[in-house]
Amino acid sequence: MSDNFAQSTLNIHKEESTGDKKLPTHAKAVIIGGGVVGCSILFHLAKFGWKDVVLLERDELTSGSSWHAAGQIHTISSDPNISRLQSYTIDLYKEIEETSGHSVGLHITGGFYLASNKTWYDYLKRERSKARYMGLNQEFISPKEVAERHPLIDPKHYHAALWDDQDGDLDPSGATYAFAKSAKVHGAQYFTHTPVTATTQRPDGSWDVTTPRGVINAEHIVNCGGLWAREVGHMQGINLPVQPMEHHYLITDKIDAVANHPTRLPAGIDYEANIYFRQERQGMLLGTYEPKGTPWKVGGTPWDFGHELLQPDLDRIADRLEMSFERIPAIGEAGIKDMINGPFTFGPDGNPMIGPVPGMKNYWCAVGVMAGFCQGGGVGLTMAEWMIDGEPSIDVWAMDVARFGEFATPDWGTVKSTENYERRFVMTFPNETLPKGRMQKTTALYDRLVAKGARMGQGFGLENALWFADGPEDAHEEPTFERNRSHDYVAREVKAVREAVGGIEVANFAKHEFKGAGARAYLDRVLAGYVPKPGRLTLTPMLTPKGKLYGDLTVACLGEEHFMLFGSGAMQEAHRRWFEKDLPADVTYQNVSDDWHGIALSGPKSRELLHRITREDVSGEAFKFRDLRQTFVGGVPVILNRISFSGELGYEIYCKPQYLLRLAEAIEEAGAALGYRWYGARALMSMRLEKGWGVWTLDFRPDFDAAESGMDVFINWKKDFVGKEAALKAREAGPSRKLVTMTIDVDGIDVSNDEAILKDGEAVGYISSGGYAHHAQTSMAMGYVSAEHAEVGTKLQVEILGEMYDAEVLGAPIYDANGANMRA
Ligand SMILES: Cc1cc2nc3c(=O)[nH]c(=O)nc-3n(C[C@H](O)[C@H](O)[C@H](O)COP(=O)(O)OP(=O)(O)OC[C@H]3O[C@@H](n4cnc5c(N)ncnc54)[C@H](O)[C@@H]3O)c2cc1C
Repeated sequence: MSDNFAQSTLNIHKEESTGDKKLPTHAKAVIIGGGVVGCSILFHLAKFGWKDVVLLERDELTSGSSWHAAGQIHTISSDPNISRLQSYTIDLYKEIEETSGHSVGLHITGGFYLASNKTWYDYLKRERSKARYMGLNQEFISPKEVAERHPLIDPKHYHAALWDDQDGDLDPSGATYAFAKSAKVHGAQYFTHTPVTATTQRPDGSWDVTTPRGVINAEHIVNCGGLWAREVGHMQGINLPVQPMEHHYLITDKIDAVANHPTRLPAGIDYEANIYFRQERQGMLLGTYEPKGTPWKVGGTPWDFGHELLQPDLDRIADRLEMSFERIPAIGEAGIKDMINGPFTFGPDGNPMIGPVPGMKNYWCAVGVMAGFCQGGGVGLTMAEWMIDGEPSIDVWAMDVARFGEFATPDWGTVKSTENYERRFVMTFPNETLPKGRMQKTTALYDRLVAKGARMGQGFGLENALWFADGPEDAHEEPTFERNRSHDYVAREVKAVREAVGGIEVANFAKHEFKGAGARAYLDRVLAGYVPKPGRLTLTPMLTPKGKLYGDLTVACLGEEHFMLFGSGAMQEAHRRWFEKDLPADVTYQNVSDDWHGIALSGPKSRELLHRITREDVSGEAFKFRDLRQTFVGGVPVILNRISFSGELGYEIYCKPQYLLRLAEAIEEAGAALGYRWYGARALMSMRLEKGWGVWTLDFRPDFDAAESGMDVFINWKKDFVGKEAALKAREAGPSRKLVTMTIDVDGIDVSNDEAILKDGEAVGYISSGGYAHHAQTSMAMGYVSAEHAEVGTKLQVEILGEMYDAEVLGAPIYDANGANMRA
């Protein structure tokens, strides 16, 4: 069987390309870029029925980063749905090999994830827990077993290893060609030596794709430019925050122990050393992510860059190599046959950026795919589903290009992509806030809250308070899986809210504004719930045509033809894309999230505080639960909503950013005598758990429908709305799984998310979110379980770092079950 050292595959395949054929003048979709990602999308589109699809490649296929990849493949990823897609990708290689008749040089050897200390072992236990409910074949093996399976590894450096059956390696060039040729078998075309020089949108929304060989008019275009993704984006004024990074791997001379081993050696990843390794012919291949990454061509990738490699710089990776040679001594003792330094593209959080670009019509991208041979198949599947069906079959939020907005500038992208490269195999703890690219967006309260001891986090580029220490010097915590030092401080914040009054910034909530004669009718159609009358608020789910959750939104009616929707800050660009897709002519829409900052007041004394800083009658009779006013608070103009996510009597006060400081001062002054305290996101998350309220991206996501998530209670079944047919079908069938809230009998540690839920040793679901409920003084979680285990009082078990803890399904919120406090 052929082996997979990339240079051995640099025998550029000239045969079979449609390089000399005439370009078509029209196509359903044009894909720009013939790396593994573009070819996989071409294959999936054609396989799923779009035959009229064309891929254009400026040189030969694999002329970007694809040809010099190390070709190692594995399923593990921080996001379970990406893991699923990686598993799909690996399984797909056999199919494309058969369809195309082109070898992908696949070796499924199985692979180790090596933990050299207890913390890494804990991390792997979390991964193992995910694998339980995802059905992935992973098991722990001892260091002794590691050495038995891979005699080159010195087991004394390791604590434990997670073994995955599906890992291995392939020939990157062969895999890319197999995708392209399989696409051809399904009816698609690809053209090499056909650089795209311009993309121009016609008034009818279709795209003219210009090349030296002619122009193709296409309904959709897809930027799969890889190393040139930024440049292809620039043709359309799109600034993608991706960055090519230099990356080294080495290949050894023949090692007798490898040559004489009866089977191909397994692949491996050593987290602490930040290395990956596998057998290459009769030697070994070892790649490393050095602690100080080197961005390549920050100003832009030259068009004449082709099949060159970069100058290796051994000094840069010397300490990683030293560590590796201690752990796999035979590699250190062998001669180095080749040292590869090649660039490939990273995104700000290390995950791909795919999907329809917000603000554009039929402009798609699949860029920043940094593990193209692990993820390319899954990216192709997802893109094809999205383009053909209008939505992917699973939640791909972790890869959605819309998770970044205007804040993700090219400079920010370079900083964060570099950070991500450096952290390729470095774990991020549940309480960890990554240091790079901070203060990209701040509110007027930033300095004030930091001076009061705020420990800040970042969401959608915006700094927001996580918790409050006793002062700036005190605002620190160590990354850990266990309860951290913020625990007691958060308890103090919860106590203030539950017993007196607290305030939290709400700049990080999304705000979407709709105006016009058709606004009510439009919202009635896109939202599944009730659209309120003027002066009132409602809570509503938003569904996809297939009945999956696509939003949980608070709707404010500011006037008969004027609405504001409040929702997930992270989803704001995704929602903007959603709303702009089919907006009628008599409705105007704007994402106004940055135009409205504010403070939410919560607690039994919040009414008294509010009363002291507004002339509005805010008594319970005059200003009821879910009322809203456009009025003045603290002397500044505001939108005042009587609603709260803490489960207490509370108010969200939204003001223009320039008034925020004044509003905050007024609240602090008036609140001093009432026990006012600032609180952060951790306290809010604790309190909403006590109410059993889910949050977007964790508990609510398009993997689930309204019935499964319990959001169906807010549906107005009497009207027509997007997703109704599917939602009705789901209601009739009854949910097969359900979101439940549980208490967990555990001390000193809490769930975060993605842990397995078990019944009698069998995985029956997973944790979507959780933590410590400070008022109720118990550990809690929310999670999806099979419907038969969702009954009130069901006893389950939850796996936290490999230990099983008893959990019990609750029937009602553990705090203020009938909502009396909130409605007071
Ligand atoms: C040293 C190294 C080791 C790696 N090891 C692994 C590994 O072990 N496992 C793994 O999964 N991944 C690995 N990778 C990453 C992998 O190579 C990338 O994830 C993958 O190649 C990305 O593919 P792509 O299609 O997005 O981009 P690219 O391969 O860069 O392809 C983009 C294509 O678009 C074409 N193009 C650009 N602009 C235009 C235009 N205007 N008109 C027409 N065509 C255009 C280019 O010519 C190019 O062929 C490694 C990368 C490197 C550098």
